[in-house]
Amino acid sequence: MENENTEKIRNKAGLSNSEILSERLNLTLAFSKRFQMSTAVCYLRLYFPLELSQTNDDELEPALSRKIVARLKHVLRDIDTVARINRTDFVLLIADITEHDCQVICERIIRSISATFTIDFHHFSVPSNIGICMYPYGSEEPHELKSIAKAQMYVAEALGENHFSFYNGELNKSAYRKVLIENNLPYALKKGQLFVQYQPQYCLRQRKIVGAEALIRWNHPSLGEIPPAEFIHYADNAGMLNHLFFWVFGEVCQTIANEKNRKLKYSINLSVNQLLLEYLLEEIANILKRYTLSPAQITLEITENVEIYSVKKVNERLHCLKEMGFTIALDDFGNGYFSFSDFIKLPLDFIKLDRDFVISLMKNKQHQSVISPIITMAHNLGMQVVIEGIEDKTQFTEWLLLDCDIIQGYFIGKPISFAELIDSIGEIEERVGAV
Ligand code: C2E
Ligand code: MG
Ligand code: MG
Repeated sequence: MENENTEKIRNKAGLSNSEILSERLNLTLAFSKRFQMSTAVCYLRLYFPLELSQTNDDELEPALSRKIVARLKHVLRDIDTVARINRTDFVLLIADITEHDCQVICERIIRSISATFTIDFHHFSVPSNIGICMYPYGSEEPHELKSIAKAQMYVAEALGENHFSFYNGELNKSAYRKVLIENNLPYALKKGQLFVQYQPQYCLRQRKIVGAEALIRWNHPSLGEIPPAEFIHYADNAGMLNHLFFWVFGEVCQTIANEKNRKLKYSINLSVNQLLLEYLLEEIANILKRYTLSPAQITLEITENVEIYSVKKVNERLHCLKEMGFTIALDDFGNGYFSFSDFIKLPLDFIKLDRDFVISLMKNKQHQSVISPIITMAHNLGMQVVIEGIEDKTQFTEWLLLDCDIIQGYFIGKPISFAELIDSIGEIEERVGAV
């Protein structure tokens, strides 16, 4: 996928990396056709080691990338092309080559870049995967060759690190779905294919709907509705997540501004990276002002992870947001990063117990005894507890016995459009109140 930042890197002739790749691909294929040669289109993905970002040295990754490109060029010939298309992905064009020889080259590439690199006394090894589509066997169409090679990279990825895989005429459907999602995502917002649904939240004490969580969805023209779990991480890799967050924030504000029932609170998901954005506070304040809304109407949900506990700036930012008047919820609580001493420093109003965590605890009678103390601890710290993923009446009645505050799950209601949410509040309160 074309990365925003890489797209900005243009050569002296004013061409972007993708334009150069397209020219080289057309030229190589024209030669291959003229002289009846076969050409390999290889899609290479690198997996930069985690230690690289943990060094906090911004110069290391560019230095490592330069060394990787040098090794790639060393393995390939002058007539071949190495095109970097984003931070982690390359397209390699290997002209006039048989499948057998290409196999040897791919083995060499993987071996070469997985061998240790030493930069400033740091040692790194970079695993990779390669997918290959041969011209003319796989396809004769340049764009299709790249997409098939990329899908084949996902097939290699499923085998583990440091594998390559050749397209054999049979397209792997789930791998190709990933390619379509990744390639089309940058256009989804522009083409108006993204939308927000709202999942109701029910307060057990007041016995009524007190809010709803805004959840993003993508209506893809050929794949249908795609859940966020399938595209959020691509958005993150492509540097689009900030854009998506502000879009969701604006969309929710615009929608609720027209709603007279202003007593409901709306939750919006926020990632740690967005929380650390310099312009976050200013931008959200502007959006709220545009729709004459108050932060008191919004809950920001931040997912429990290691950074939330370990990065000082995260804590400071959460305090700022809290002071502005937002409600703060810790999402997916129980995912395994819990650190009590850091947790109590966070300015939290809610913890949302993760669905899988809740299910596994409820299954095991011994573990059930852990839930009550968690709820009591949260209450003693002045927080409320939301239970996610309650699907049926049995689960609901189990949770009624525990002292939690808010229930969110299919039993209360699935994510629906805003109009449907407002229309269904009466019915939900009547149905659930009768249990
Ligand atoms: P989350 O914030 O924990 O959202 C709850 C997820 O659980 C939603 O999935 C919801 O549809 C699902 N769910 C709720 N009740 C039930 C139930 O009773 N049973 C089952 N099986 N599932 C239930 P969804 O919409 O697929 O979202 C998945 C995740 O994607 C969200 O988890 C959230 O982390 C992320 N996400 C969604 N929208 C956004 C967004 O606008 N921005 C960001 N950064 N992340 C988002
Ligand atoms: Mg959430
Ligand atoms: Mg959650």
